[in-house]
Amino acid sequence: MRPFTYAKPSQTSDASKSLKQSNSAIIAGGTNLLDLMKLDVNQPAHLIDINKIAELSQIKNNKGGLLVGALVKNSDLAHNKQVLENFPMLSQAILSGASAQVRNMASTAGNLLQRTRCYYFRNSTMPCNKRDPGSGCPAIDGYNRIHAILGTSDSCIATNPSDMAVALMALDAVIHIEGSGAKRSVPITKFYVLPGAHPEKETVLKDGEIITAVEIPQLAAAKHSRYLKIRDRKSFAFALVSVACALDVKNGVIKEARLALGGVGTIPWRCTEAEKILVGKPAKKETFKLAAEAAVKSAVTHKHNKFKVELCKRTIVKALSALENLA
Ligand SMILES: Cc1cc2nc3c(=O)[nH]c(=O)nc-3n(C[C@H](O)[C@H](O)[C@H](O)COP(=O)(O)OP(=O)(O)OC[C@H]3O[C@@H](n4cnc5c(N)ncnc54)[C@H](O)[C@@H]3O)c2cc1C
Ligand code: SF4
Repeated sequence: MRPFTYAKPSQTSDASKSLKQSNSAIIAGGTNLLDLMKLDVNQPAHLIDINKIAELSQIKNNKGGLLVGALVKNSDLAHNKQVLENFPMLSQAILSGASAQVRNMASTAGNLLQRTRCYYFRNSTMPCNKRDPGSGCPAIDGYNRIHAILGTSDSCIATNPSDMAVALMALDAVIHIEGSGAKRSVPITKFYVLPGAHPEKETVLKDGEIITAVEIPQLAAAKHSRYLKIRDRKSFAFALVSVACALDVKNGVIKEARLALGGVGTIPWRCTEAEKILVGKPAKKETFKLAAEAAVKSAVTHKHNKFKVELCKRTIVKALSALENLA
């Protein structure tokens, strides 16, 4: 671990000012950042601890939906009454991740900004375009079993590891941001950026900007929603494939559909084409299979992750089929 300064402001504006210092980083729960500092992957010179900013820890009702403060703990959000009733897939997604101890520390914004679990990224002795731009990507010709099949580039094929982000993608959440005296909101579908030639840039956040809250809009279909995660171990493991889905079905016909994937995309992956296929069709397995085909149509595989295409299709069909009877 390298030396760093530590500040604990009580206002978002002060935190944002401190964040303007070069090589500074926000620390929330620290469950990802401290890991990466110990591995020498991240070497911030200044840590800005935001845990004293009270307004960031609240969950508020908001026009039938929710406004979730950036510091709200993963465990509190997963067990929130309104989340359990109106957005069950969000609760299921959070509870499928990490462990109870980690979820008690982990924050909403920290979860969304956690870094990839690519083995080469986390090994500071290896080249990696994301950690050290221009150094190369050993995963492309290396061991890439856990890597992405959607949204990859010649520079990076790492998956985004967050389960919560997949559910929030399907829910059309909106990220509230503050920095340099200004506030802005970005739909989560536009928040993450594809790796392209610059995998070091993962979101649209600019220098000095802090996530203050995540807005979850009201959505009728979300009451009938599910998160299904497939992984190597039953607990404490990241997704090989995960599916967040919601269906609003009337008289056996799908009126509204939401579908997003985890474990397969370089960003949490929203399947808009597959959603279009679902809407207006009967809620049955044949329809779900067509949607699953569409969801992986643009998949690009590597030596060890070819299995993810079929696994992804089967997981989509299984997750949607579980909703068929609920709707
Ligand atoms: C053993 C283990 C297993 C795990 N398994 C899973 C899993 O299966 N699924 C899953 O989804 N996650 C999993 N996680 C990851 C866990 O969910 C994240 O570590 C956690 O959510 C990060 O939240 P945090 O508050 O601790 O973030 P921190 O570590 O404090 O921060 C993470 C990043 O976010 C930035 N940041 C934090 N808050 C803000 C803000 N408000 N504005 C701007 N930047 C901010 C920090 O600067 C840092 O870059 C696992 C973690 C561990 C240690
Ligand atoms: S896949 Fe991305 S994160 Fe992994 S080694 Fe390649 S560039 Fe680095």
